[in-house]
This record gives sequence, structure tokens and C-alpha cells, in this order.
Amino acid sequence: MLYNLNYIYPTFAIIIKHRLATLRVKAIRLEHLYALLLHSAEKIQPATLHPHWRHKMYKITNLPFAAQKLTFAPMLILDGKIASRAVIDTLKTEVEQIKLTGKRTPHLAAILIGNNGASETYVASKVKHCDEIGFGSTLIRLADNISEAELIATITELNNNDAIDGILVQLPLPKHISEQNIIMAINPAKDVDGFHPVSVGKLVQGLPTFIPATPYGIMLMLEHFNITTKGKHAVVIGRSNIVGRPMSILLSSNQPYGNCTVTVCHSHTPNLNEICLQGDIIVAALGRAEFVKANMVKEGAVVIDVGITRVEDPTAKKGYRIKGDVAYNEVAPRTSAITPVPGGVGLMTIAGLMKNTLQAYKAIGK
Ligand code: NAD
Repeated sequence: MLYNLNYIYPTFAIIIKHRLATLRVKAIRLEHLYALLLHSAEKIQPATLHPHWRHKMYKITNLPFAAQKLTFAPMLILDGKIASRAVIDTLKTEVEQIKLTGKRTPHLAAILIGNNGASETYVASKVKHCDEIGFGSTLIRLADNISEAELIATITELNNNDAIDGILVQLPLPKHISEQNIIMAINPAKDVDGFHPVSVGKLVQGLPTFIPATPYGIMLMLEHFNITTKGKHAVVIGRSNIVGRPMSILLSSNQPYGNCTVTVCHSHTPNLNEICLQGDIIVAALGRAEFVKANMVKEGAVVIDVGITRVEDPTAKKGYRIKGDVAYNEVAPRTSAITPVPGGVGLMTIAGLMKNTLQAYKAIGK
């Protein structure tokens, strides 16, 4: 689309004309113009812009000439829809190839206990993704008064079933059941959630294993958007076995999208704000809505928001809204890249789980 520069604010028009001449650009798109205005005027710092406009600027810098000529560092929204789609599409292609050979397809079994609303949603999404990719899936629903022994018996059946490649037991469990005993009951070869001590031990030693789906998804996201991690200081808030701890191991590992110096913070960390301010990368996985504020984030940091908290809101259709651990609107303008909630890490978690399922199939399923 062409625009007449005479309609532009005259001072900017002169600067723009000059820059266009330098760049030998004959046609200009509105986004180019916007970028040039911002860049040439040097009045507006990208960091002070509303996330919407920074996102637009990110798109601009992806355009061929702008990428070469503009020097500002716009904020990148780490869009889980885009990154997970790339993973899912690759898996779909692999399953199509498997089908062509006439072999059975990968199969995931999910056990859902009780009627926890969030768990129902997560499991439904996992089953939906299995269908889309072409995996088989079995959903086993159990009442929340099931005994630990009965649950272990169900898991044992799945362990012994050669048609099942991956087993997941949706957490949290009812209080009378030991999470640890249930995790230990799953055959490590089918442990697609990566919570079994055998999987965790291998992860720590840098051996091939099932990586817990959420940290795995985050690594896939860093890879998709080619975020530099080597030599960076990563601050992980939270030390749970399913997110914070494995995340810290992966980021510190000697591997692509690792090689960070990692600080793990938790509920007993006294000077959290100061530590966060040192982070080139912050992974917030503590489960406190909008806990990470702008004054805790260094300019240009990469912020990964893992949190999912339902916050009551009578104005919302469902009566609640999903909030991340990061106060997005105030933090985003300070960052160089940030994940939204929803639409960020959650989608990558499913992608990680689906990759693990295919991996389990490849190892044992044929
Ligand atoms: P968890 O409760 O098991 O662990 C929370 C951790 O945060 C603990 O290690 C605790 O020490 C730390 N913590 C709590 N309060 C803190 C504080 N004030 N300061 C510093 N550290 C503090 O939680 P989790 O299972 O690791 O999950 C964390 C969040 O991530 C939750 O909101 C959960 O819903 C969400 N989650 C999201 C996904 C996803 O796919 N996006 C997956 C798993 C978990």
C-alpha cells in the first residue's frame, strides 16, 4: 500500500523522506512508516510503548528491510499458539508416516480422578490434541473415593498393556492418595509426564528421558522463537517437581537453549525482588496471580509466565478469569519477550506431552 508523505506531520516527513532515500525504498507500507516515525524521531522508546504497539513493532522488524535497518529492540510476544502449532503439525506429519507403514499409532492413556473443573479441562484438551495428531487415547475416569490400591491396580494394567505407550495420572489427587506412590507405580518407559524418579534422575544427568511437559514446552518455545539463553542469568521462581525444579535443571544444562546461570527462588527466598532484577530470563512458576511486578523486572528481560490461577470476577462469563504469575500489562513493556496468559506456556505444555508420547511409542511401541 502506498502513502503520500505530504500528509504526514512535516518534520517527520522530512526525516522519513531522507531515510527512505538512504534506504532506496520506493514504496512504503503503513507499518514501515510507523517504524520509521518511531525510530527516526527517537522520541518514543519501545520500552515505554503499550504492549499492543510493541507487538506491532515486532511484526515490523520481521519485514525484510526493516529488520536490517532498524536498531531498536522491540518486545516479542512468545505466542504459544504459534509455537505449539509448529510442534503439533510436525507430530501430525510423523503420525501420517507411521500410518503409511501400516503400524499401529501411538496411544496415550489418561486417568482422571474426581470432578476437578481445571483437571477436566486439561484432560479434555490432551485428548483433543491426541485426536488431532492421530494418536489413540483412552480416558479412564475414576471416582474420587477410589482407594490408592485400586488406582495402582489400574496403572499396573496399563503398564502391562502393549497397546498403551504413555500413561498420565492427572494431578492433583484426592488427599487420601499419595502422589509419590502413584508416580512410582507408573512404568518409567511409559512415564510421559516425566515425574518418575527414574525420569528425573536421567534429566539431572543430561540423559535422554521424558522431560516434564511444562518445562519441556518452555524449552520448545525458547527454541521456536530462538531466544538466546547461553551465558544468561535465569531466575526461576518456584521449585516444584513439575515446573520450577526441572526448569532450573534444563536452563542450566549444557545444551541448546540451556547454558544459563540459574537462581532458583522459593517461598523462603528473602530478597526476591533484588534477585529477579538481576534476571535476564525470569520464569515465574509460583501460582500467585500477578505476583511479578514491573519493579522486579530488568529492562529487556525475557519473561516466561507459567502461572494459571482462577481469579473470581463476576463480570466474566464463567465468573472467573485466568491470571498468570506476572502482572502482564505493567511488566510487558519492560521486556524483550514475554509469554501471555492464557495463550502461552499452557499450550506448550500439551505440545511437550504429545512429543513425549511419540517418544514413548518410538522406544517401546512398535
Ligand atoms: P506449587 O504450588 O507446587 O509450587 C509453587 C512454588 O512456588 C513452590 O516451590 C513455592 O516455594 C514457590 N512459591 C510460592 N509462593 C512464593 C513466593 N511468595 N515467593 C517465592 N516463591 C514462592 O506449584 P506448581 O505446580 O509448580 O505450579 C505453579 C503455577 O504454575 C501454578 O499457578 C500452576 O497452576 C501453574 N502451572 C501451569 C502449567 C501450564 O501448563 N501453564 C503447568 C503446571 C503448573
